Amino acid sequence: MVRRLVLWDVDGTLVRAGGVASEVFSLAVEHAVGRHPGEHGVAMSGKTDPQIALEILAGMGLEAGQDERHLPVVVERLESELAAAVELIRRKGRVLPGVCELLAALHDDPHVAQSVLTGNTAGNAATKLAAFDLDRWLDLEIAAYGSDDRDRRALVPIALRRAEELRGWTLAPHDVWVVGDTPNDLRCARAAGARCLLVGTGNVAVDELAALGADQVLDDLADVDAVLELLRS
Ligand SMILES: [Mg+2]
Repeated sequence: MVRRLVLWDVDGTLVRAGGVASEVFSLAVEHAVGRHPGEHGVAMSGKTDPQIALEILAGMGLEAGQDERHLPVVVERLESELAAAVELIRRKGRVLPGVCELLAALHDDPHVAQSVLTGNTAGNAATKLAAFDLDRWLDLEIAAYGSDDRDRRALVPIALRRAEELRGWTLAPHDVWVVGDTPNDLRCARAAGARCLLVGTGNVAVDELAALGADQVLDDLADVDAVLELLRS
């Protein structure tokens, strides 16, 4: 019987996508608006894809309301550009230490279900996970994505609802572990009453993460046995 649900963030937690996404965002915005946003300077870590797109659009001096109008086109183009860049992601990116061992071990554990909770849209997450063959271990039907809600704090309840509706698992928020690499991952866990493990493999220093009050903070996921024990607790 499933007693725990582990929801993995993707970028900076499971993988580094090799910096491919930033330029892909710019290309998608250029496609929608008709001009390149230039050096937009929008920080992407921990944000949902629609949120990032809107922040880039907001910096382009568009007329009021035009950013929301462009958003669906940007997101659609973002997904197709990223899918087309899968070989580049595979070449420039990498799976982070311990991840394959952890995903494989939890996949074989009948008491633990695992999926992703990510700011990526469903399509972009699928591209990144498939690039490194990680999707085989994850129950992606119960995932929660940036395409479900642009506010990351809304995503844990979406995953819980899918787990109940599609798998018949009734899990309490405390049964859920959110694993991520940014303050936004913690906010998203706390908004739902879930537990949170933060790792320093993204763009936020582990010292900074340690000050936030997560249930656990680690440099990385390399100590597989210790992380398994934590996530099964
Ligand atoms: Mg992340």
